[in-house]
Amino acid sequence: MIKMLVCDFDGTLHGGAASGIGQFADYVHEQPNLRFVIATGRTFPSISLGLKEDNYPRPHSIISDVGTQIHHGHDCVLDVLWRDQLQSVWNKPVIQDVLEEVGFLGAINSRHQGDYKITFEGKLSQQQYATVAAVLEQNAIHVDLTYSHDWFLDVTPKGVNKAAAIHHLMNKHGLLPGEVCVAGDSANDTAMLTISGINAILVANHYPEVAHLSDLDNVYTSHATHAEGVLEGLKHWQHMAGDGKGRA
Ligand SMILES: [Mg+2]
Repeated sequence: MIKMLVCDFDGTLHGGAASGIGQFADYVHEQPNLRFVIATGRTFPSISLGLKEDNYPRPHSIISDVGTQIHHGHDCVLDVLWRDQLQSVWNKPVIQDVLEEVGFLGAINSRHQGDYKITFEGKLSQQQYATVAAVLEQNAIHVDLTYSHDWFLDVTPKGVNKAAAIHHLMNKHGLLPGEVCVAGDSANDTAMLTISGINAILVANHYPEVAHLSDLDNVYTSHATHAEGVLEGLKHWQHMAGDGKGRA
C-alpha cells in the first residue's frame, strides 16, 4: 500500500493547468491513509506562499531548502531533531568565505538562501562545477553540490538532500521504501527518485538533465505533465501495489 506521496513543487505539482491541480487535490483528499509531503528546493517562506497560490492539498510535512529543513503538520512545526543533526556538520560563514574566492560563481539572491543552504545563480560549465568542488575539497570542506535547471547551484551539508529528509520521515513514521511514492522533474530530485525500492514518478515535462532516470525499473514516466502527471503516476503505483483495485 502506498502510504506517503512526496512531491517536488516547481515544475512537478506547480506550473501546469489549474484543472490538473484540482483533480490531483480531489484525489488526494479521498485518500485518508495517504500522507502528502512537499519536497522542494525553495525556502520555507517561499513554499508557504507558493502553496497558497492554488488549490493544493495541505501537506502533512514540508521538506524545504533541498532537504535541509522539515516542518510538520498544519501548524508547520519545525523538526528540531533534523535541524540539530545539520547544525553539527555545517559552518556557513566558513563555506561562504571559501566560495567568495571563486570569481565565476553567480549571484546569491537572498530570496533563495537558507540557514543550511547556499544557492548561487548562473550557468556553469562542467569544468567550472569541477573547480568549485576542487576548491571546497582543498579547503577540507565537505558539502553536497547540486546543480539543477542549468542555473541553480545548491551547497548543502554533506549527505543532506531531499532523499535524506525522506529517510528521516520514513523512520519517523515506520515506512518502507515500497510504501512511498516520490515525484519530480529536475536534478535536485535525482537523490529522492533513486532511493532504493521507492516508487518514483517523472512527470512528462521533466528536464533533460533527469531524462536518463526513465530507464530505471522503479521510475514511472508519466504521459501527462505537472499535477496531472503526478496523479497518473500515483494511480500507477497504487495499482501495482494492489491498492483500491482497478483505479489505475
Ligand atoms: Mg522542480
